[in-house]
Amino acid sequence: PKLPYDNENIFAKILRCEIPCNKVYEDDYALAFHDIRPQAPVHVLVIPKAPFVSWDDFTQKADDAQIAGFTRAVGAVTRQLELDEPGYRLMVNMGGHGHQEVPHLHVHIFGGRQFYHMIC
Ligand code: 5GP
Repeated sequence: PKLPYDNENIFAKILRCEIPCNKVYEDDYALAFHDIRPQAPVHVLVIPKAPFVSWDDFTQKADDAQIAGFTRAVGAVTRQLELDEPGYRLMVNMGGHGHQEVPHLHVHIFGGRQFYHMIC
């Protein structure tokens, strides 16, 4: 059985402005901010502004406007950060095997250095 969305997770608190974040981008569908423990010169998290735990959750429950809005927001952030050249990496972790720490869907954007093997 899947866990229900936990309104007390850290990203829910960031969305409610109960704890601060270093904001990079915001629109109606998404908020992007710097990761607190960056793994690359650029390490930004993009989160939907609605309570989704996983990709499965998001694609089942979000309406088309939310899916389009969030997907475009990720693109807007990479554009704003000027990452297209020389490139960057997107990552989404899900559940235990995916090493998901925060149970609110988030896309990691990594940039500013060379990346190598996909999985570590
Ligand atoms: P996950 O492992 O769930 O894919 O990634 C969670 C990410 O959230 C980690 O990279 C971690 O450093 C980041 N993180 C955890 N707590 C906070 C926080 O309070 N603020 C910010 N900005 N990032 C956080």
